[in-house]
Amino acid sequence: MVFPLGGQERGHIMFQDLEIWWVTGAQLLYGGDAVVAVDGHSKEMVAGLNATGNIPVKIVYKGTANSSKEVEAVMQAANNDGKCVGIITWMHTFSPAKMWIKGLQALQKPLLHFHTQYNAEIPWDSIDMDFMNLNQSAHGDIEFGHICTRMRIARKVVCGYWKDEEAQKKIAVWARVAAGVADAKNVRCLMFGMNMNNVAVTDGDRVEFEQRLGYHVDYYPVSSLMEYYKKVTDKEADDLVEEYKKLYTIKIDESGEDVYWEKVKNSAKAEIALRRVLKDEGATAFTTNFDDLGDADVNAPDFCGFDQIPGLASQRLMEEGYGFGAEGDWKTACLYRTLWVMQQGMPTGCSFLEDYTLNFAGNRSSCLQSHMLEICPLIASDKPKLEVHFLGIGIRKQQTARLVFTSKTGRGIKATVVDLGNRFRLISQEVECIEPKPMPHLPVASALWVPQPTFEIGAGAWILAGGTHHSAFSYDITEEYWEDFAEMVGVEYVKINKETNTYDFKQTLRNNEMYFMLNKALK
Ligand code: MN
Repeated sequence: MVFPLGGQERGHIMFQDLEIWWVTGAQLLYGGDAVVAVDGHSKEMVAGLNATGNIPVKIVYKGTANSSKEVEAVMQAANNDGKCVGIITWMHTFSPAKMWIKGLQALQKPLLHFHTQYNAEIPWDSIDMDFMNLNQSAHGDIEFGHICTRMRIARKVVCGYWKDEEAQKKIAVWARVAAGVADAKNVRCLMFGMNMNNVAVTDGDRVEFEQRLGYHVDYYPVSSLMEYYKKVTDKEADDLVEEYKKLYTIKIDESGEDVYWEKVKNSAKAEIALRRVLKDEGATAFTTNFDDLGDADVNAPDFCGFDQIPGLASQRLMEEGYGFGAEGDWKTACLYRTLWVMQQGMPTGCSFLEDYTLNFAGNRSSCLQSHMLEICPLIASDKPKLEVHFLGIGIRKQQTARLVFTSKTGRGIKATVVDLGNRFRLISQEVECIEPKPMPHLPVASALWVPQPTFEIGAGAWILAGGTHHSAFSYDITEEYWEDFAEMVGVEYVKINKETNTYDFKQTLRNNEMYFMLNKALK
């Protein structure tokens, strides 16, 4: 188990118990002294990289690998070590790549191949044959790269000097993604109710999903959730409402004061119940369904059910790091969880979002992102307002509590994963979040963005790729994260950005169709 499941403390970054293993390739051809030098340099480099603070996961040096047996042993050890989220390899000297075959066959953790060198510059005055034989990563890394390609090993190749911040940043991205992938294997997503009837895009093959991406998705009876809800005490709910008062602007509108506080208090009870179930069940992601909230008849004498959709609870649990998908969208719930894990400690935030309403405005045409309730307050531009309004969707049709805010402006990226029947496709899209005009009557949180490169091309590409109306959105991460993620779990990845043009994008989709069909046939 990589991360503690559930109940993440606010602000607590969960990378500290994880490790990345560093293995330096060498061989004994140049004598024991050469290996001693290789070992010394490697230690210095690993210590140097850790000291920069640029890589959020600690790198642990695992020594030189000088033979097939040694390579296989360290790869197997990495597989069996729960703290190890990935391996970095680097060939200080020439390391004949057949010695890597068995180890690479065994390796089940993400791989980063770092093409670097101990010294930055050639020591022009003193370089001799010994120096050149010792410092030949230019040569050794290419041999290693060949065997990875020959064996179709997915990996990230980072080229650059190890003291260079650009190279370190690429390793940092991979490290965060590797931590996310390790976490994904431990994710249990609870569906409170099924996915919404008749909706295609939120459905899919949960068995294949677990095999491929690691997430385990279970249904959880709403009747059992209600047992938790019933047991939440008034005192517990009142204490949580006091916390709300500190965090949010209290805004009482047409519901009136009595209904407002009743709905907020019941929302607090729902939040406490949901958090307890998730903790007790070891789950870090969940979905809800607005048609499945306990007993149907609120006027029945022994009624037991949520009196409203638990939107406020979902907003707050998302902020804590629980994956969330509305309408039973388990794929987006899981992806959001991974996004939150990957971007811990980053400043601007992430959320579950839905494409809601278009705004045509020439070359600034945009799409309003929102949901009936469930947007994560991490992306709020200002202190959220706690409001209660009537919500006419779903089984309840009741006054309902929610956090209302608009979101920050600036670049961001949305992502989704869809089931195409023969494979999963991860899609990302660059967006530019812009300032909306005031929307005094919109009773929900929102964000407004221009899909890149333009609405016409960007939204068109998303539709051609089969993207969802739900997405996992972030201001902080880049395409590189999703590219690394897709590579590590072995799913298709397509990206939409400033460079996208429709003709090439369609061709990419066709090419990928062929590639993944052949790939499946070969396996
Ligand atoms: Mn939705």
